Amino acid sequence: MNLVLLEPDDFVEGDRVRLHGRRLEHIRSIHRASPGDELRVGVVNGKIGRARIESIQKDFLEMHVSLETDPPPPLPLHLVLALPRPKVLNRTIAAAASMGIREIDLIHAWRVEKAYWTSPRVSDANLRTQCVLGLEQSGDTMLPTIRVHRLFTPFVRYELPGRIEGRRAFVAHPESETPAPRGVVEPVVLAIGPEGGFIEKEIDTFRAIGFTPISVGRRILRVETALPYLIARLLP
Ligand code: SAH
Repeated sequence: MNLVLLEPDDFVEGDRVRLHGRRLEHIRSIHRASPGDELRVGVVNGKIGRARIESIQKDFLEMHVSLETDPPPPLPLHLVLALPRPKVLNRTIAAAASMGIREIDLIHAWRVEKAYWTSPRVSDANLRTQCVLGLEQSGDTMLPTIRVHRLFTPFVRYELPGRIEGRRAFVAHPESETPAPRGVVEPVVLAIGPEGGFIEKEIDTFRAIGFTPISVGRRILRVETALPYLIARLLP
């Protein structure tokens, strides 16, 4: 945890914050902090600053917060992600939030197992928790907006065209003959397939609305590897 993320409810009065549960345990056992120590903090969707610990009790700690700087700027990349299996979903969402992605569309695809949609990990509460973990890791405060689309075709045909206006749109597809470009200066929309990949009909649907299928080589990468690989490759 490189930053302790504070919720508006954590403020007891003015600049004083009271923490319990997971963050208290983390500060106590990992940071091994004591009264007088300073920690890096940030407010959800707000500023970053420092907090001085005033007291640590059995069930809570109190600190005095001063907020100074804005969070880092967003990554100019909107992610369209075919729902991966639940464990991978958690890791990928936390990683996406940690890299500064602010918009994520989670979508169904032919090779997404239907059972994945019934996992409690697809709940708003869990997705938010994964984002918080990612932001605490990287030192950011801005929660991504995550939208869930259980039907592929209506989303891609009717909603996605509006989202790609003024942006370069790519669908990651190992079989594509087009190598992923480097140093794309325009904002990007990037679609990543399920563990089994997108089927050709889905690639055609993306292509029809203006997406370019791109590849980073013949090696098949896992979703959680493909995402940072593609981002580093595409963005300047
Ligand atoms: N068995 C599938 C692989 C899916 S990997 C297939 O052969 O198509 C999961 C997703 O990661 C893919 O749908 C794609 O979006 C991305 N990906 C993995 N390796 C890639 C590569 N070499 N180039 C581009 N995208 C890749």
